[in-house]
Amino acid sequence: MKDAISIIIPIYNEEENIEPLYKNLVLVLKNLEHKFEIIFINDGSSDSSMEKLDEISDKDENVKVINFRKNFGQTAAMMAGIDISEGNIIIPMDGDLQNDPSDIPKLILKIEEGFDVCSGWRKDRKDNPIKRNLPSKIANWLISRISGVYLHDYGCSLKAYKREILNGVRLYGEMHRFIPIYASWQGAKVTEVPVTHHPRIHGESKYGLERTIKVILDLLVVKFLANYSHKPMHLFGTFGLLSILFSFLCFFLMVYYKFFMATSFIQTPLPLLAVVFFLIGLLSILNGFIAEVLMRTYFESQNKPTYLIKTPSKNKKS
Ligand code: UDP
Ligand code: MG
Repeated sequence: MKDAISIIIPIYNEEENIEPLYKNLVLVLKNLEHKFEIIFINDGSSDSSMEKLDEISDKDENVKVINFRKNFGQTAAMMAGIDISEGNIIIPMDGDLQNDPSDIPKLILKIEEGFDVCSGWRKDRKDNPIKRNLPSKIANWLISRISGVYLHDYGCSLKAYKREILNGVRLYGEMHRFIPIYASWQGAKVTEVPVTHHPRIHGESKYGLERTIKVILDLLVVKFLANYSHKPMHLFGTFGLLSILFSFLCFFLMVYYKFFMATSFIQTPLPLLAVVFFLIGLLSILNGFIAEVLMRTYFESQNKPTYLIKTPSKNKKS
């Protein structure tokens, strides 16, 4: 029997899109040899999305619907879907008909070839060029450079994952787009395929330019967690020591100017800089201590190991 598929679709005010999306999906999925389920997460819609979804899940037992109490955002919705999914291949997609279900078999094929993650790439993206496409191009370039995982389109919701890859992954903020990065850092094989993208016909996009800024900030957090979560003091401490070093430089320069160049302390900004850099350095090192304590609490309170094992030892007693 082939791996079961879970399709995960966050829905926020998509009343006119739900029915056609469901129909298109079923047309594609029933031609595959895989068992499948479709999980809709209604993210606090204020239109008739909830009724539309309930109608469908009443008729089709392969459809699961979760209704959120209020709008928690696309990432939270995706996480809820992943949490209740039962398939071995997880495929999130948008509920606005912009992703095309007919691309799903392509993604599944890649997973069957042995990849752990296959990302969709909206090669010909049909969104607002200035507000969305350009900032997203820049963001994708930046994310690739910083993460060292080279994909063209992190933001495309349509992706496919092997279930194991998602075990233990918790998503915050805009972080669903970084799953391929997390996965790759933990040794997963990641690839991408071009997918079709349609313009939005019904309803409105929920995002604008501000999303790119959030994505970049989230990326910094991901990078910090990946590199320093076990040793935050190395980051805070290095910065702090550099700052204190700089403060000493300013101090000696200040003394030098006073005694050898006959320049009074108050004629240069050096005394001020010396004090400011010293304080910044000190505070940063103290912050490092707090971060170390927090990290220890994090790992020890949840019994989280600080390593990942690929193959456990074969010779075990009992
Ligand atoms: N969405 C959601 N909660 C939100 C915002 C969006 O569940 O708070 C869903 C939305 O219904 C759609 C998907 O996330 O299915 C992508 O949203 P949208 O089409 O607005 O994003 P864009 O395609 O413009 O990036
Ligand atoms: Mg959209």
